Amino acid sequence: MMIIIRLSFPQLSKSSNGMFRNLNFWGNKKVITLMYHQIGQSTFDPWGLAVSPINFEAHLKVLHNHFTVITSDSLANSIGQSFPKNAVCISFDDGYSDNFSIAKGMLEKFKLPATFFISSYYIEHQIPFWWDELESVIFDNNLMSADMKIYQNWRWPANPPDAVSDKYINEWARLKPLAYPEIRDRIDILSQNNQSNNGSCNKLPMSTNDLIELSKSPLFTIGAHTMTHPALSNHHINYQENEIVSNIHWIEAHTGKSVTAFSYPYGDFNDDSLTIVKNNDLKLAFTTKGKSIKYNDDPYQLGRFQVQNWTGEQFEQQLRLWFKKY
Ligand SMILES: [Zn+2]
Repeated sequence: MMIIIRLSFPQLSKSSNGMFRNLNFWGNKKVITLMYHQIGQSTFDPWGLAVSPINFEAHLKVLHNHFTVITSDSLANSIGQSFPKNAVCISFDDGYSDNFSIAKGMLEKFKLPATFFISSYYIEHQIPFWWDELESVIFDNNLMSADMKIYQNWRWPANPPDAVSDKYINEWARLKPLAYPEIRDRIDILSQNNQSNNGSCNKLPMSTNDLIELSKSPLFTIGAHTMTHPALSNHHINYQENEIVSNIHWIEAHTGKSVTAFSYPYGDFNDDSLTIVKNNDLKLAFTTKGKSIKYNDDPYQLGRFQVQNWTGEQFEQQLRLWFKKY
């Protein structure tokens, strides 16, 4: 038996000011990937997905001044080699409209790259993501906006503060493992039973044109996130494959660029999912497990940290803690 020991050394890259940037490679073998969803205000946000525009801009200022933000492609090329000092990767999941209308301009202002993981079925059909549609069906217009204040500080899995939010969480847990057509049927039934429901949902995905526009910028990468956002491990390999591959093809057909990165909806995957992402020319796949990325990590099970609605100061503190501890 032959044992081959492969030593990999950092490639010294000259930065614009002529300094060698990666000389401190040995002490900086990690990248923190940030996970955002919505940039906006949300009164009902049990998973803490929304970051206000003011806070998001403050996060970008911190990143611009103190960290090196790299693209997901540069991360893919660095795995097995070296990372720049204080390297951070910015990612967004799902494809909310505010990613285009708010986040894009702010990222451009600071010239920071980001990867957007897109669930294309909702974008193609311009319908809300199922969990947002469920929210609009369950929280009908009997609830005045003043009542919504009780939800502001409630975060799952803490006990829901009232019967309506309890119903929402129960329905959400019941629907999450299902295939989209079954979820669709259930939401339609709930909607018919709820006569007072005004049927409007203010949380929407971006449009196909928004996505195409976003993909044109050299700063932005469009990644895959399945067609309809299933919890993959609950489904047969053929179902998973269709969800993943159709999504990649849809994105590639609309952006004209090959898809290199993927994120697992809900961070959920099994061995079948791993086989599919490896067989489809993807270089990276992200989970939602809060851990930093080391140079020897499996590129198909990369960790990410969910960013909450923190001020710039809180964000910087948290980010430095992640670098130190994880
Ligand atoms: Zn998602």
